[in-house]
Amino acid sequence: MDSKEKIEALRTALREHNYNYYVLDTPTISDYDFDMQLKELQDLEAKHPEFYDATSPSLRVGGMVTKNFETVAHDSRMYSLDNSYSKEDLEDWEKRIQRNLGDVPVEFTCELKYDGASISITYENGKLVRALTRGDGFQGDDVTNNIKTIKSIPLQLKGDYPAKFDIRGEIVLPFEGFTRMNAERIENGEEPYMNPRNTASGSLKLQDSSLVAQRPLECLLYGIVGENIGVESQFQMLEKARVWGFKVPTVAKLCKSTDEVMNFVEHWDIHRHELPYETDGVVIKVNSLQHQEELGYTSKSPRWAMAYKFKAEQVSTLLNEITYQVGRTGAITPVANLEPVLLAGTTVKRASLHNADQIAKFDIREGDTVFVEKGGEIIPKIVGVDFAQRPLNSVPTKYIDHCPECSTALERTEGDAKHYCPNFYGCPPQITGRIQHYISRKAMDIEGLGGETVELLYKEQLIKNYADLYTLTKEQVMPLERMAEKSAENLVNGVKASTQIPFERVLFALGIRFVGETVAKKLAKAYKNIDALKVTTVEELVKVDEIGERIANSVVEFFQNETNQEIIERLKSYGIQFELSAEKLENQTEELKGQTFVVSGVFEKLSRNELKKLIEDNGAKVGSSVSSKTTFLVAGDKMGPSKRTKAESLGVAIITEDEFLAMLK
Ligand code: AMP
Ligand code: ZN
Repeated sequence: MDSKEKIEALRTALREHNYNYYVLDTPTISDYDFDMQLKELQDLEAKHPEFYDATSPSLRVGGMVTKNFETVAHDSRMYSLDNSYSKEDLEDWEKRIQRNLGDVPVEFTCELKYDGASISITYENGKLVRALTRGDGFQGDDVTNNIKTIKSIPLQLKGDYPAKFDIRGEIVLPFEGFTRMNAERIENGEEPYMNPRNTASGSLKLQDSSLVAQRPLECLLYGIVGENIGVESQFQMLEKARVWGFKVPTVAKLCKSTDEVMNFVEHWDIHRHELPYETDGVVIKVNSLQHQEELGYTSKSPRWAMAYKFKAEQVSTLLNEITYQVGRTGAITPVANLEPVLLAGTTVKRASLHNADQIAKFDIREGDTVFVEKGGEIIPKIVGVDFAQRPLNSVPTKYIDHCPECSTALERTEGDAKHYCPNFYGCPPQITGRIQHYISRKAMDIEGLGGETVELLYKEQLIKNYADLYTLTKEQVMPLERMAEKSAENLVNGVKASTQIPFERVLFALGIRFVGETVAKKLAKAYKNIDALKVTTVEELVKVDEIGERIANSVVEFFQNETNQEIIERLKSYGIQFELSAEKLENQTEELKGQTFVVSGVFEKLSRNELKKLIEDNGAKVGSSVSSKTTFLVAGDKMGPSKRTKAESLGVAIITEDEFLAMLK
């Protein structure tokens, strides 16, 4: 087998394994074997950029960065759905349909209404070419790079697919994956996400697709638009989509009568909590596409479809006490401690009250009977007070004005709903929270040290900031609860190993307020070492791409603080990476600053990824499609004709690979 054949064989095999695992949920090889095959493919592809394929399973790991999500028009509009909230509403709708269509039998396809983020994915000749968010229905954001990392979405279709079509679905984050992500966040000292839906839609707009690749997202498909699809009904459409390799939930049901529709609705209203993902209702669609066409659309939704919204489950219970939590950044979160009550299948004991305004808005008091709701979300919320039950001696809630952990007077800044404890360096949960953040996986990734141990070490006064970690000895750690010689050794070794973590992650680990992973990368790239960053000003900082005043102020403040300066000097003495590695520094210029390149087609000397990296390393942006903002279109072999036409009509210069390389000395 030559390299080309080997690459093709691996791609085909990995596609099938992805399909078995993510669409059918029945893997046929071990994760280890899968990883080995993927690794082999990646190595071969790196050696042979000439065999680049935009549908290769190797692209699933992400790595493409989208700076600005370009707005692109949908080929056909993404409509909303009309909502109904009662059986009467539904019956009225069905009568209207029947009247409109005349005296013919009408069938319905019932599906669940998946609660996530809508997506429209375009396939051409069996290959995924573009994915757009719903946006305003007429145009959405191009999130192709991110969508390609979702493994249940085929990059290459199987079977008798039409030449071109759009398929629509919902990107969801199943409960299991969501819970796992949150457990990890809590372990890392980060705030957990509120609910799967927002996390799913937020994921689509992450700039770094490798982060998206790590999230356990799924795509559930429900509709195809295009010509000559080869089906006559909604139900057949779902079956076809399945054959082509898409994940289409099997709960969809073809109903021959309104009674059957009602049974479906009733069944899932009760059983929806057993599903692996969130659903907030049922969508009922007239089955025949011919009928659909006759019925048509209103100005915002199809007349042939109707959503039936489940009622959010609500219970009332006693609010025993309001307590306050202090986070790593000093943010205060009030928590309602409830008399335990069963709600949507789980026992609820606590509910977040968010902030002081929220408490004032509902006039929530200790001793109140409150209404608690769980609208598909994980964390229940208080939606009101049963005033009739309010005890006579009830007193309004007085929000705390001092930190519950360290007694410092709380502060609140204009425009921020939260109160903060400003005792950054003396407030215990802030101190341990910062160290927990420092050691977390995406920061210094210190193996052998977890969040609870950090708390123990702090309590035993062995550490009071993250620099202290580096002076810990095996002998100091061993006497701690649940520590043995081996684990103490692992801890000390893990700390030592973290001196190899690259600068951008160190910067993230420092826990500067508002400096997340992406901002840390930007700062590292712009300043190259900590000494330059230490002396920078707000004016300089805001010149860096995507750094606003809020972040700039926070950075300057951080480095002005003497305690921080001391900690950084100490970290330096322990050998922490405080500058970009030589390898990263080399090859980085500003030569192409201010320009935007679009790369299309196949190239001779470089792979597309290498080309894009070169563009970014030299200070320019990579755009995902040609627009008036594009400076150059770098055209390779087999570039799509539409890109060329668009570039020509907008007067965007089209250059070859060699011409591009000549721009860089
Ligand atoms: P709404 O946003 O309430 O107007 O509802 C319309 C949205 O419901 C669509 O944009 C879809 O993303 C979403 N949806 C979820 N499940 C389905 C389904 N089975 N059929 C059609 N739309 C669905
Ligand atoms: Zn405090």
